[in-house]
Amino acid sequence: MKGSTEHRDDLASPCNFHAEFVDRLRLIVPHNALTAVLESFAKPRVVGLRINTLKAAVAEVLNALAGDGLKPNAVSWSPTAFWVPGHQRELATHSPLVSDGKLYIQSLSSQLAPVLLDPQPNESILDLAAAPGGKTTHLAALMENRGTLAAVEPIRDRFFRLRATLDRLGVTNCKTYMKDGRTVGKKTGPRFDRVLLDAPCTAESRMRTDQVETMHYWSRRKIRESSRKQRGLIESAFTGLKPGGRLLYCTCTFAPEENEQIVADLLGKFPDTAELESLRLPIPNVQPGLTMFGDTQYPEVLARTVRILPNEIMDSFYLAMIRKTA
Ligand code: SAM
Repeated sequence: MKGSTEHRDDLASPCNFHAEFVDRLRLIVPHNALTAVLESFAKPRVVGLRINTLKAAVAEVLNALAGDGLKPNAVSWSPTAFWVPGHQRELATHSPLVSDGKLYIQSLSSQLAPVLLDPQPNESILDLAAAPGGKTTHLAALMENRGTLAAVEPIRDRFFRLRATLDRLGVTNCKTYMKDGRTVGKKTGPRFDRVLLDAPCTAESRMRTDQVETMHYWSRRKIRESSRKQRGLIESAFTGLKPGGRLLYCTCTFAPEENEQIVADLLGKFPDTAELESLRLPIPNVQPGLTMFGDTQYPEVLARTVRILPNEIMDSFYLAMIRKTA
């Protein structure tokens, strides 16, 4: 560990952690959860599965998986979300159900976002940072391929990956745009019922202690760069929202500069129209958004946002639901 001190030696695999990252985590997660959170960076991941109801019924896919020796575990909050243990990863990812678009490999935390956004079949929905398309295809499935879905991705190879995912999973209600999401809201004006911004971020929750490069890639500079882009994206997302519409902002990173700070800045910029809704998650491993990080204070209302804490089956995720008042 860079600059490690004795009192940190009780923490899991401390040698690969960036000391500053651990110091920051102490200010982010509850004290009694810190060891478990640090240990989660070393634990093998379970494999999240989503059954794509645009192509197959849940029972059909479960039967086919049973034939391959897989007995996926269900979760209470989504009829299409399942998981298998990490040692069955190969079996799951190489299943023909995946290449047929009937099954999508997707972490459980990732599957919560579209469920919380709750798109309706007749609505107009924008996914502002869409590749490789896990959440876009989930939104389309929840909309039963009805209504209109717009998906934005500026990076060329990722854009084509998104298109391939949409084709493979049988999505027919989605138009794709190879654009910088920061320019989109002004161009479309306020026309979407719901917007998902699964923002590009420093992905701290994806770091693994057994993949040293993922730990060493971390830096404060990357957090600053990321938050600059997120600020532009969230403003664009909010601008594209109809009055009465909802924006779900999420990231897979712990850094408050990419989470609470971004939401607080949006509320500050649109004090008359941006309203934070309380998010109640159907899982136990959550903590309210921070109202304080080191010397930085955020408005009390930020406690309505949530941070999923990693556990045996879920990765960390930050989520905030913002409503545009009429
Ligand atoms: N929602 C996706 C899914 O569930 O499959 C994952 C999205 S990933 C967290 C963030 C995406 O934002 C990346 O594909 C990245 O290329 C894209 N991105 C980066 N800069 C962007 C920008 N300026 N506008 C829109 N998207 C951007």
